[in-house]
Amino acid sequence: MRVSTKSKFLEHNWNWHLKNAVRDPNRLATELEISLSDFKSDFPLLVPFPYLNRIQKGDLNDPLLLQVLPKVEEETEVSGYILDPLQEQKPTNLPKGLIQKYRRRALIVAAAACGINCRYCFRRHFPYDQSRLDQQKWQDLLEHVSLDKTLREIIFSGGDPLILPDKFLENLILRLNEIKHINTIRIHTRLPVVIPNRINPRLISWVKKSRKKLVFVFHLNHPNELNDEVRKYITKIKLNNTVLLNQSVLLKGVNNSSKVLTSLSEKLFEAGILPYYLHLLDPIKGTSHFFVSASEGMKIIEDLKGHLPGYLVPRLAQEIPGLDSKKTFFY
Ligand code: SF4
Repeated sequence: MRVSTKSKFLEHNWNWHLKNAVRDPNRLATELEISLSDFKSDFPLLVPFPYLNRIQKGDLNDPLLLQVLPKVEEETEVSGYILDPLQEQKPTNLPKGLIQKYRRRALIVAAAACGINCRYCFRRHFPYDQSRLDQQKWQDLLEHVSLDKTLREIIFSGGDPLILPDKFLENLILRLNEIKHINTIRIHTRLPVVIPNRINPRLISWVKKSRKKLVFVFHLNHPNELNDEVRKYITKIKLNNTVLLNQSVLLKGVNNSSKVLTSLSEKLFEAGILPYYLHLLDPIKGTSHFFVSASEGMKIIEDLKGHLPGYLVPRLAQEIPGLDSKKTFFY
């Protein structure tokens, strides 16, 4: 049984979709009319109905289903695929919740949960339970940001920062508004793709209050993710003080095709979003079945260049711990 979203109340209640998301593989199998092997993962299934409704019933190879379906391949031990390849869990002198990989910008692990569990996630083994920020830790963190005058940009990541209540997010934005040396606030989120009505009037209200430029980096991997509803809601945050970008992960069986990525770039552009990064998979334990090589990625990008204007070709990138910036591939 699919969930009706017709009533006015439900239409504006993104939390309702989160609470009623599918967490049980048997329920997923029933909803999608598929049969699944009996596999239980310690990274649980989580898929809300607005996303699930975009998956083709009966198709085990649906590119959206592949992104959320726990598979027995996740148990295969592959050399080099480890718990923390990006070394985000290495102890530092920074306040808890703050990660600084590059000069002039710092990342806050603002939230400990997401609106969907993506099987290839680079933080699927992140110890969120130990990283939750209480009021005092937020204070320490914001104080550090206000004292470190080298910083120009603050990045909210997670988890998904938009899972936090709007009142809380508004207070954060207002606090950052007061810090003169911060020019830009970047928000990495997949929630509006998963539950489009997360972009509600309260969210728009704090977005409008930001005196700093707000950069939203969405996460779409496949054109089927960008339906009319997603486009309708995302368009609402296309404002004078916002920039809308997209990052994708190059995933075997999902989007390792220039046809799929050409269509994604075109649909993003129609929605007012520019393609930004196409990431190579990080070698996270349990994700090796999604691996696509850098050389295949470069061939795909070469093909995209023949079909799209340069501004719609994402940069192929890989994060390598210790470098001054992401490694990008030139072609
Ligand atoms: S939304 Fe992003 S952080 Fe959350 S599970 Fe998916 S890839 Fe990971």
